[in-house]
Amino acid sequence: MMLAAGSTIGIIGGGQLGRMLAMAAARLGYRTVVLEPQPDCPAAQVANRQITAAYDDPAALAELAAASAVVTYEFENVPVAAAEILAARVPVHPPARALEVAQDRVVEKEFLNGIGIATAGFHPVDDDAGLTEALRAFDGSGVLKTRRMGYDGKGQRVFRNMASGGFAGVCEAMGSVPLILEALVPFEREISVIGARGADGAIATYAPAENIHRNGILHSSTVPAAISTTAADAARAAAAKILNALDYVGVIGVEFFVLPDGALLANEIAPRVHNSGHWTEAACALSQFEQHIRAVAGLPLGDPRRHSDCVMENLIGNDIARVPALLAEADVLVHLYGKAEARLGRKMGHFTRLGRRIAQS
Ligand code: AMP
Repeated sequence: MMLAAGSTIGIIGGGQLGRMLAMAAARLGYRTVVLEPQPDCPAAQVANRQITAAYDDPAALAELAAASAVVTYEFENVPVAAAEILAARVPVHPPARALEVAQDRVVEKEFLNGIGIATAGFHPVDDDAGLTEALRAFDGSGVLKTRRMGYDGKGQRVFRNMASGGFAGVCEAMGSVPLILEALVPFEREISVIGARGADGAIATYAPAENIHRNGILHSSTVPAAISTTAADAARAAAAKILNALDYVGVIGVEFFVLPDGALLANEIAPRVHNSGHWTEAACALSQFEQHIRAVAGLPLGDPRRHSDCVMENLIGNDIARVPALLAEADVLVHLYGKAEARLGRKMGHFTRLGRRIAQS
């Protein structure tokens, strides 16, 4: 069913992704209400209303459900129970199952492998003895991550060529939480695909972006990625397969490692609009944000082709000082998030520099 103009879309999470979703919703004639504990959050500055409460506050969830014709979210750590409480009263997109899969790195890899999508090898790790054993299986190298609540490289530790043993206290230092040891992937580059699935099952995927991370945070996304057409098509097909397997409605971000021989290993799925898809607002007629709003509102998806090559760069912390110079450049689209304080490592905005114009994607 197509959401009527003037209807309200609920958004859980009030960061920059929620802000850009609210802006896209407004352009399609919808109102937005944001659930976010932080007052005057980036999303609430452009939304119609904020419910200032915790994401799992029962009264706030009831208020959100009552106020919204459909509810979506901007981050993957929305409590699954909260999504389920809402889903009993109002359509919630993407589905709670996507949250379950994305919130636990072991469940995520088992899901991906189960539908024929390759990932790095992995072992669940619960204690130092388990870590010793898992590292031995990977010849002393691997990336130890928390299974849950990890993002932007937080909660990770890399081991290279470690002789077995001597890991006493490592798991405790990681917070004594369930962990996963992943094989260390000798990747040549990292790419991501932004895909969307409509309420009617239609699928649209954007061209893969090539991503560079600094200090575990996305630094830049370049389109096109320097990969073969075969690899690009395989990445887009994998994103489509994930969307179908989850009976998904909305936009998803899927990150991959590209190996020297061009083979892909899926790293992570984000059941939401994604930082590596911000370039779409400048280089495509239709951004990932509008695509997501179209999907959750039951509107037809739009054409994901780009009209230009481009590079998107994040403005982190003091990078904000670059804004005046960027504003003076032609073919640069600057997007700021309304955050008052430029703290170290904080995403303040991004910009996309357009390159070669092209006739097709
Ligand atoms: P993640 O939080 O899983 O997105 O990881 C953050 C970054 O760490 C990735 O973008 C990679 O640059 C690096 N990384 C993560 N997992 C692995 C791995 N298994 N092998 C090599 N590098 C990795």
